[in-house]
Amino acid sequence: MIATMLPPDNHVHTEWSWDAAHGSMEASCARAVELGLGTIAFTEHMDLTRWVITPGCKGATQREALRVGPDNRFNPPPLDTNGYQASIQACRDRYPGLRILSGVELGEPHWFGDQCAALLAGGAYDRALGSLHSLQIEGEPWIIDDLYSPYAPADLEPDGIMRAYLAEALRMIQSSDLFAVLAHIDYPVRAWPAEAGPFEPADYEEEYRGVLDALARSGRALEVNTTVPLRAEIVRWWYEVGGDAVSFGSDAHRPSQLARNFLEVSAMVEGVGFRPGRDAHDFWRRR
Ligand SMILES: [Zn+2]
Ligand SMILES: [Zn+2]
Repeated sequence: MIATMLPPDNHVHTEWSWDAAHGSMEASCARAVELGLGTIAFTEHMDLTRWVITPGCKGATQREALRVGPDNRFNPPPLDTNGYQASIQACRDRYPGLRILSGVELGEPHWFGDQCAALLAGGAYDRALGSLHSLQIEGEPWIIDDLYSPYAPADLEPDGIMRAYLAEALRMIQSSDLFAVLAHIDYPVRAWPAEAGPFEPADYEEEYRGVLDALARSGRALEVNTTVPLRAEIVRWWYEVGGDAVSFGSDAHRPSQLARNFLEVSAMVEGVGFRPGRDAHDFWRRR
């Protein structure tokens, strides 16, 4: 039974995430059962960064434009923690055979320590992901995706964006202990422009190893995000710096994306030297 070998999907969005218009916790549970997934974590967005939006930015869709203030900053909708927790409970009642973990994806937790700490203190979250989606450019916060656009203020080039990203990710790890899993360490690859040529992890090996080393020394888990499957080189560096735990995450924003690419990616991670943890719900661990 191949399906029972799938690792937990520890990074899933539903209708409780502001950017998941097609999300559904209920349908995601049904899909998890269909796939034979034993464990699923619903990690909704907690975003406090007010991104700069200029006309032409990818972020400025009609729906999002409604939340742009007079200062041309986007106001991310708050997480409805009560509604979310009630939905988790309803799904646990309805799907007793599925292990349903609560969770949150903290955007730039090192910039919002007090608010993130208050959220975690007030509710039970089994999985706290730390995510970097943004960079400060000339004192203003930009979502990475928009930094490749001609509207971005600084001409960083994809190479510069990747290096700035990894430097900020290192600061995030060093200055915040609120999250247990570093999400999508390769986030800038998602919007990497074709004309820049293929992304080559080896070009950033030193920076990646620095981030991974800090993460390993703090005893946290590396997420292998499967949206754009994380490159094997980076997982191997994680092993080499002594990283212990791997968390798999589809980053699904709709039920059909649940556990995407998990078979191939878990085989790759196993080849590097990690294996399922103590029980089926655990992170994968180094052999
Ligand atoms: Zn994210
Ligand atoms: Zn996410």
